[in-house]
Order: sequence, then structure tokens, then C-alpha cells
Amino acid sequence: MEKTIFQKICDKDIPADIVYEDDQVLAFHDANPQAPTHVLMIPRKAISRVNDAQDEDKLLLGHLLLKAAEVARDLGLGENGFRLVINNGQDGGESVPHLHCHILGGRPLQWPPG
Ligand code: AMP
Repeated sequence: MEKTIFQKICDKDIPADIVYEDDQVLAFHDANPQAPTHVLMIPRKAISRVNDAQDEDKLLLGHLLLKAAEVARDLGLGENGFRLVINNGQDGGESVPHLHCHILGGRPLQWPPG
């Protein structure tokens, strides 16, 4: 199966502006930012989307969420706040089939989303 663009970033086949990585997850700046700070946090494991995650991924997903909040704080978003978004499937607006959590901040964000 062909690697997704995010798998290629994980494997360092293509460059990305990485802000955090460990043995389980990787965070890098979004190429098309929708807010002053827009970072993507992905698991190294190739899970296509949250709807395809399994019970065995429980710890990994918990780690990803906690690290997303840590990265948001490290990027200075702790005080004013930030938004974590996971798009799932066509109606959810998912365009890359490798689970990713958007970390958005640096301006007030609208609700509800479009
Ligand atoms: P989604 O629409 O939720 O699947 O989000 C995919 C995100 O990946 C979009 O915000 C894109 O701007 C971003 N993106 C796509 N390719 C790259 C890349 N090579 N480096 C960084 N971000 C990317």
C-alpha cells in the first residue's frame, strides 16, 4: 500500500517543520495554516482515522491528546486557549487518511464550524 503524505513525514522521506516527536507521535506545522498557530499531531502508527482506531490504540490516543495539549502550551497557547480538531471521513472534512489532530490557536475561533 502506498504511504500517505503523513507517513512519509514520519519516515523522514519528505521534510516538515517538526515541533515535537517521540517514539509514538509527531507534531509539525500545517502547510496551509488556518490560524496563527496551526500544528498537526499524528501517531507514528498508520491509523487511517479515529473511526478505524481499535481498543489496542487506547493508550496511544490518550498519549496523543495529552501531548497535543503540551505542544499547545509550549507554543504559548495555554493562557488564551486553543482548539483540537480531528476530522473524520468525507463529511468531517478529512483529506489525509492518516489520523491527525489539528492544534489551532492564536486568534478567537468561531463556533459552530462551517
Ligand atoms: P484534514 O483536512 O483534516 O485531513 O487535514 C489535513 C491537513 O494536512 C490540512 O490542514 C493540510 O493543510 C495539511 N497538510 C497536507 N499536506 C501537508 C504537508 N506536507 N505538510 C504539512 N501539512 C500538510
